[in-house]
Amino acid sequence: MEYEAVIGLEVHSQLLTRSKMFCRCAALDYARAEPNTRVCPVCLGMPGVLPVINRRAVEYTIMTGLALNCEIARFSKFDRKNYMYPDLMKNYQISQYDLPLCRNGWLNIEVNGEVKRVGIIRVHLEEDTARLLHRTDPSGETYSLVDVNRSGVPLLEIVTAPDLRSPEEARAFLVKLRTILQYLGVSSGSMEEGSLRCDANVSVRPAGETKFGTKVEIKNMNSFRSVYRALAYEIERQVNLLKAGQQVVQETRGWLEDKGITVPQRTKEYAHDYRYFPEPDLPPLTPDPEWVESLRRQLPELPDARRDRFMAEYGLGRYDANLLTEEKALADFFEEAVRLTGTRPGLSRIPLPQRAKSLANWLLNETRGLMEATGRTLAETGLRPEHYVELIELLEDGTLSSRLAKQVFEEAFRTGKLPRQVVAEQGLVRITDADQLLGIIDRVIAENPAAVADYQKGKAQALTFLVGQVMKATRGKADPALTNRLLKERLEAGSG
Ligand code: ADP
Ligand code: ZN
Ligand code: MG
Repeated sequence: MEYEAVIGLEVHSQLLTRSKMFCRCAALDYARAEPNTRVCPVCLGMPGVLPVINRRAVEYTIMTGLALNCEIARFSKFDRKNYMYPDLMKNYQISQYDLPLCRNGWLNIEVNGEVKRVGIIRVHLEEDTARLLHRTDPSGETYSLVDVNRSGVPLLEIVTAPDLRSPEEARAFLVKLRTILQYLGVSSGSMEEGSLRCDANVSVRPAGETKFGTKVEIKNMNSFRSVYRALAYEIERQVNLLKAGQQVVQETRGWLEDKGITVPQRTKEYAHDYRYFPEPDLPPLTPDPEWVESLRRQLPELPDARRDRFMAEYGLGRYDANLLTEEKALADFFEEAVRLTGTRPGLSRIPLPQRAKSLANWLLNETRGLMEATGRTLAETGLRPEHYVELIELLEDGTLSSRLAKQVFEEAFRTGKLPRQVVAEQGLVRITDADQLLGIIDRVIAENPAAVADYQKGKAQALTFLVGQVMKATRGKADPALTNRLLKERLEAGSG
């Protein structure tokens, strides 16, 4: 029997406000600050204090809701979610229960060239908890350290409908969501740093079945890759249970990154376990529709719109345009480089789509390849749009062959030096002088009699081989077209 997976995600994202959700403590540098130095009576949960709502956090939540095509509530409120755990100073978290700020939205994702709409059930606002560090002392005794700096940092919760059907779709959703949060400037969107966190709900059912199966919630994933792996593992585990005639237990499971498995954490808790009730210390939120409309007008160009514009304006293919707009910083970088090419005499006469395509290739192929190989981000390399523009200039005016350009680029990537400087320092100028090349060509012909004989018997690859030998002898500096022509002339002359 074939099985189908059903996945819904609950995503938490810290908001980039200067201060915390309900007090004036700094929210931006809490992670770098000494533990328990970004605290006050409010976020320490002292009795008798009063929280005050951070207006910017509400604004960011509404902006996110609008970008996710949600309805914005006319009336919304905060609730107390009660539970006993040492990461909560007050023994309750201020959250939103039945009346979230945003609901009923959707987000389009693209997997293998197919567009799919994923429902957004709700987007609400709450406060982050303290951070616990679990330690073991030399005698083997375990203990926990509490850092309250994180407690009270504004936290957005985004809950999707159970519309996702594979780990690929779940990852595509997270990437797209992060892109949108970054475009909006409301979150840094880093799973590794914990500013973006994701719990994944997953169940399986026989293909064709319309009822959902029993779901399991997976926690503790701190990269897109681990979300993907955890889901793939859990789907297989559940399918195997059903195939063996057993049942899936509704529970929360934790992902163990190094073992690559999920393990039971606790049985499922229910809403009544939290004894939710309206937060008596805060007024309800009643966003003025005019304010909401003004926020809608202030939304920046979002990734899908930017992708469509990149296709229309620069003539890029959908694949390239999607990749370039997936990260706002990369899209900005690309557009700045395109703009610069328009200001250079040697480049501005080249049609815009051609310049754009060439920049896209350098950014998406060579650059990303080196970034993956070295683990460095574009910002860390010190490369600027100027680097790419110079490189294309050097290619265009014939100074560099494409092979040399790659070599120059690698050096620029490694050192941050501008391509012209690399060329000057390494003397990497392409050899276009026929006399200089002929000397090398004659030597290559003399050293490779077998290939020469092959060529004269009509084997075309023999020429490619000989050109390659000339390239090798000149460390890639020979002009390929000229080498080809001169080699042919010499070989024809030799046979005649
Ligand atoms: P709970 O009451 O357990 O919190 P919710 O209905 O609030 O469950 O849903 C929480 C998340 O689980 C949502 O993202 C939702 O899409 C997802 N979900 C709900 N039912 C299933 C299911 N059977 N399989 C997979 N995901 C599910
Ligand atoms: Zn505080
Ligand atoms: Mg729920």
